[in-house]
Amino acid sequence: MQENIRNFCIIAHIDHGKSTLADRFLELTGTVDSKKMVPQFLDSMDLEREKGITIKLKAIRMNYKRGYKEYILNLVDTPGHVDFSYEVSRSLAAVEGAILLVDATQGIQAQTLANLELAQRQNLRVIPVVNKIDSPIAKVDESVAELAGLLKINPEEIIKISAKNGTNVEKVLEAIIEKIPPPHPNGSEKDPRALIFDSGYDPFKGVVALVRVFGGEIKSGEKIKLIATETITEIKELGYLNPKFSPKEKLLAGDIGYIATGIKEPGRVHVGDTIIGYNLNIEPLPGYQPPKPVVFASLYPENPDDFNTLKIALSKLKLNDPALVFEQETKEALGRGFNCGFLGTLHVEIVSERLQREFGLSLVISTPSVVYKITDQKGKETLIRSASDWPDNPSIIKKVEEPWASLEVIAPVNYIGKLIEILRGLKGNYIETNYLTPERAIIVFETPLRGIIANLYDKIKTASQGYASMNYKFLGFRPGNLVKMEIWIAGKKEEAFSRIVSEDEAYPEGKKLVEKLKENLPPEQFSVALQAVVGGKVIARETIKARRKDVTGYLYGGDVTRKKKLLEKQKRGKKLMKERGKVTVPTKVFLEIFKA
Ligand code: GDP
Ligand code: MG
Repeated sequence: MQENIRNFCIIAHIDHGKSTLADRFLELTGTVDSKKMVPQFLDSMDLEREKGITIKLKAIRMNYKRGYKEYILNLVDTPGHVDFSYEVSRSLAAVEGAILLVDATQGIQAQTLANLELAQRQNLRVIPVVNKIDSPIAKVDESVAELAGLLKINPEEIIKISAKNGTNVEKVLEAIIEKIPPPHPNGSEKDPRALIFDSGYDPFKGVVALVRVFGGEIKSGEKIKLIATETITEIKELGYLNPKFSPKEKLLAGDIGYIATGIKEPGRVHVGDTIIGYNLNIEPLPGYQPPKPVVFASLYPENPDDFNTLKIALSKLKLNDPALVFEQETKEALGRGFNCGFLGTLHVEIVSERLQREFGLSLVISTPSVVYKITDQKGKETLIRSASDWPDNPSIIKKVEEPWASLEVIAPVNYIGKLIEILRGLKGNYIETNYLTPERAIIVFETPLRGIIANLYDKIKTASQGYASMNYKFLGFRPGNLVKMEIWIAGKKEEAFSRIVSEDEAYPEGKKLVEKLKENLPPEQFSVALQAVVGGKVIARETIKARRKDVTGYLYGGDVTRKKKLLEKQKRGKKLMKERGKVTVPTKVFLEIFKA
């Protein structure tokens, strides 16, 4: 019965033309009237159910006639970036096939490989396509050769298209029908079972889950159970997205659609969870993982009065971004803000961008850092998100671990030397170099995640004049030599400047920091010591000389004794102040260091 359904997604490196190809599919199938077509339709399509409330469209049902036969093509959108690799893998778990799209002006890039690997792990049928053949700078034959080599297939099997002009796009639709199998018949599986691969929020219908039904059928109005969060609820509405919400009576095995759950607490609906009949006791679909943030950054409102707005904004973002976690914190110079956990640096960027754009917030964002794991002498493990959580007494620490990642960089061979030099600087392990073609290679390294999030992307882009692309995946925690470095100003610890550094970088880092402070802090009437301290030992020091106030300026002529007297008095005053000297770090300087 579901013989005429094809469930698929498009996987590609960013800008290789995924959205443009989806536009052509929507036109060819008549899903969107070509008069109403706007470029990158799916990206711009927020489903506005009620005023101001939006849900991103992440799955679309298209009807396609081929001869006398009608097909249903369900296109599932996948997040393109590795920061969201868990979400990518769940979207891929909802389909049977993937179009692997490669831009002929760029060739295979790092995320092409990462996504392909995820697709192969899900046993998806892969349809290789080379795009942008219309471009004057397209290297069609080379791209085809690369892709054929990677997939170990005949170059003839690769479809060459222009998503922009529509050239050969119909051939891709044909291939979807011919090569991607219909949803597996689940004759034996009578019990309703569905995978949640995305979700959004509607104030009346509650959390709306996008689902792929794997077994049985799910009817509107029925009671269902969400296994991971042990939540039972009654379905308010279900149906398809084509592209508007189209309510139906039921969803069948093989279908992709939406379920309005009526659940008001978004935390109860997780991507990857399984929906089953409320009174059933069956196994969840494989692969569920609660989201685990690995990168942390502090967010403060530029205007302290906006604290509550920020708090509300973060809770709202969490509704459709369950991986985002946040905890209130206070920093002397900045007031109240949040320490937030993210999946990666792109996730940090997206969240801060949304906070600024959707909520009009001006933010101060700290340099992102990773989470560390400390095991104490008694064997107790603690995750450390910020330097202020580091134990004051280092002797209780038995072991420190940090996250590592496996890193792949793809680049033309003439940049490899330069790139390897940069990667060696991360103090990781070189694994290997593989060749896609004699001209382009993949370098594989394993390194601490710490080094990757410190602008590695920009560094490799610069070193390769924009030609290299990179991708990383989290490998787990490994032991590291890490210490807490404190900054003392005029003999007083300024906790806000503390940071966690690797032992061998403590000296250069500390030196850089005190030098930077010296440049930025205004002089006081007494001299101010700036010290970087590790484990109670000063490792770097700078001094800001006292400002010499002109106390004699109003004296004319040669009354030298009077001048001397005044200077004497000033000296005494300075000495006093040195003893009582207290430096208040101006917010501006604080920000300078905080964001650096
Ligand atoms: P996505 O990031 O993979 O969704 O890529 P987009 O669909 O947004 O396309 C990225 C850019 O490539 C846009 O400027 C498109 O207009 C352009 N583009 C997409 N397909 C083609 C094509 O077939 N030919 C040419 N010349 N440009 C294309
Ligand atoms: Mg796009």
